[in-house]
Amino acid sequence: MNNWIKRDLKYIWHPYTQMKDCENLPPILIEKARGLKLYDNKGNFYYDTISSWWCNVHGHNHPKIKKAIIRQLDSLEHILFAGFTHRPAILLAEKLVSLSPPSLNKVFFSDNGSTAVETALKMSFQYWQNIGKKDKTKFVSLDYGYHGDTVGAMSVSGVDLFNEVFKPLFFSSFKVPSPYCYRCPMGKEKSSCNLDCAEPLETLVRQKSHEIAGIVLEPLVMAAAGMIVYPKEYLKRVAEIARKYSIHLILDEVATGFGKTGKMFACEYVNIQPDFMCLSKGITSGYLPMGATLTTDTIYEAFYANYEERKTFYHGHTYTANPVACSAALASLEIFKEEDTLGRVREVSFLFHQGLEKFRGLNLVGDVRYIGIIGAIELVKEKKRKVAFSFKERVGLEIYKQGLKKHLILRPLGSIIYLFLPLSISKKELEYVLDNTYNIVKSVDKKSISQ
Ligand SMILES: *Cc1c(COP(=O)(O)O)cnc(C)c1O
Repeated sequence: MNNWIKRDLKYIWHPYTQMKDCENLPPILIEKARGLKLYDNKGNFYYDTISSWWCNVHGHNHPKIKKAIIRQLDSLEHILFAGFTHRPAILLAEKLVSLSPPSLNKVFFSDNGSTAVETALKMSFQYWQNIGKKDKTKFVSLDYGYHGDTVGAMSVSGVDLFNEVFKPLFFSSFKVPSPYCYRCPMGKEKSSCNLDCAEPLETLVRQKSHEIAGIVLEPLVMAAAGMIVYPKEYLKRVAEIARKYSIHLILDEVATGFGKTGKMFACEYVNIQPDFMCLSKGITSGYLPMGATLTTDTIYEAFYANYEERKTFYHGHTYTANPVACSAALASLEIFKEEDTLGRVREVSFLFHQGLEKFRGLNLVGDVRYIGIIGAIELVKEKKRKVAFSFKERVGLEIYKQGLKKHLILRPLGSIIYLFLPLSISKKELEYVLDNTYNIVKSVDKKSISQ
């Protein structure tokens, strides 16, 4: 084992990692990155098909973002954001407001996706306290939703393998079925779907709206659940229910934001006016940590009062609106314009979706789903009955190992293989990624048949 890796394993505890697995599968030492490629210390390269945990947007080492960061470092690296401000934050807030749905006019900065969600939850909660509707204290969320790893964000996430141990810590929230079409919670097929899965939500909200502050969900793609892409009509329906019964609509665009679905924000696919939008991951194109929670004038005004009225939002994070991160975010947004990133994504995603359709023919492939530059292939043991692989079978690990041999970082969520590509991917790179992923899934297919 390389000396650096020995030192890594001696001192570092990696996230989402069973450290014992590192005995056989030590972490890979990455030395540099360019575009879609990561290079390790041995000169091997890997295609970053999952955009560095979903945050890279324009590829690695983009000259424009790098330059913006360096320029910012020459003037101001950090400043407390209470009582002080700076131009990069002002410019970024203006830009985010101009890009987001018209209902959103205020920006609250934080430093990651979980805190962007926590901010929205606390603001929503306090909004109802501030206006005297003191019973509106609960949140509704989806069964397989994911909103981060802090305790509040976990409380509104689905309970799964990762977080069930923490369940006693969660604040109580209402859970409703997810629009997981392949495994429809209502037992329907596409042809018979009438958005029945939104009914339990409407029933709940109709009965309990006096105690519900808001509903939180990921628009169009439930990412961590396995890139579950769901019908736009469902999102529209949720927005209607939220409006009808006066509960906040909190959209978690942490994964879907910044072009990954083919639009700047996923919520643009439907004409809805959320009360909150949570952003992070792609906001700086993966350069620096940053979170942002956008909200409405109505909510802002419920906190705007004389100091003694105790309506202030006492919440904040030390690295809030870090100037270097703001500058990286601004540069990333300029690139969207200069390189017509979204126009390019439309072209590339067409080929991407065509390529993914081919996977349907494979034996172990139960479902194929995609939107924009996000795609997933759900592997099953038995196609007809949609029998899932068990936790112990670790089919994902096998795919991961095989991917590395083919220069691919495939890091399946359980037995769901996904691609979450940078928007800058070229057609040639896309072809390589799809062909090799196909061959890997096919080879796993064969092996399991011969067993
Ligand atoms: C990743 C993610 C989060 C949490 O973001 P962190 O920066 O990891 O805290 C929240 N919501 C969604 C939808 C995510 O994908």
